[in-house]
Amino acid sequence: MTIDKFDFDATLLTVNFATRLLAMEVDRDVLIDRTIEAFCDLGSCKDATLMMYDEYKELKGVAASLQQRRFIIDEEIPLTKAMVEASQSLKPVIRPVCDNSVYPLPADCCNSSQTCLCIPLVGARDHIRGFVTLYREMERPWELSELFQLGIVSTVAAISFENSELFRQTIEDSLTGLYMRRYLFIRLNDEVQRYKRRGGPLSMVMLDVDHFKCVNDRFGHACGDAVLRSVGRILNESCRTGVDLPCRYGGEEFAILMPGSGKDEAEAVAERIRKACEQHIISCAEGKIGITVSAGVASIDECEKASADELLKKADERLYQAKQHGRNTIVGTDC
Ligand code: GH3
Ligand code: MG
Ligand code: MG
Repeated sequence: MTIDKFDFDATLLTVNFATRLLAMEVDRDVLIDRTIEAFCDLGSCKDATLMMYDEYKELKGVAASLQQRRFIIDEEIPLTKAMVEASQSLKPVIRPVCDNSVYPLPADCCNSSQTCLCIPLVGARDHIRGFVTLYREMERPWELSELFQLGIVSTVAAISFENSELFRQTIEDSLTGLYMRRYLFIRLNDEVQRYKRRGGPLSMVMLDVDHFKCVNDRFGHACGDAVLRSVGRILNESCRTGVDLPCRYGGEEFAILMPGSGKDEAEAVAERIRKACEQHIISCAEGKIGITVSAGVASIDECEKASADELLKKADERLYQAKQHGRNTIVGTDC
């Protein structure tokens, strides 16, 4: 096909739709899905692989689509010569498909009846973020128009992945991997507004490590950090993914926003966390550390005024009461 023959209107519409879907997304998992989908649609393929460099600069296969069956791959992928060429030229390369791989990979030397298109994901400052590979039968070559469309989508996908990483860094605490206090306030205000419109349960847990200063004094700051990471992990494991919002509130203090949970449920989660912390031993170079935590739990329907400040204040007052009652305890009603 020559360039003057292709249908510009339809092409622009399709590319516009695909790039908008990518550009407006900051959630990495959703982006992975949309990227695979966009490449399969625009490349008229059922099979695609998405590979991305992780924070250790290892190329990981993150997702693939085979005959429209989507799956996650989590393994390091060795760079083939074709991929090195694509990353140096910043352009797609077409090679025979590697016949001993379950997902599309460009081979360096083999005779296959299928071709593999390997498109580099080139981000800001020409940084290679990863690759997308697609395959199809030899007798159906890649059209120039398809390569143009896929090239545009690959740039937008690469930049969208960079944006999603930047977004993650602005909401995630780097020590514990939990959400930051700033994001808690944004989500808490949203949830309070939603409560005012539609009601329903909404609870908050405020949690603090007991005598944490002694841990630092006795074992050193690095061990103190290891303790905070462990508490972060326990909180993450105890919360419902994508529903509850476990945060590092500051220092050795944590908060969990629990939309859809009443106080009994929130108290049960807090108690589970208390027990898990009590039983967990943290090993570090300076020795073994046991810790306990105290928590205050409150729900919005107990507050005189339905506001973010009131809910936080109530949970915090109860945390203070838990400390007064000897620590390693949960308080869910004023005492
Ligand atoms: P309480 O049971 O009353 O909560 O006593 P506590 O010792 O836990 O509380 P206190 O507020 O006296 O001490 C908190 C300590 O947490 C002091 C501070 O140096 C330490 N801390 C705050 N942030 C960090 C951090 O990121 N890493 C480490 N290692 N320590 C931290
Ligand atoms: Mg403390
Ligand atoms: Mg504290």
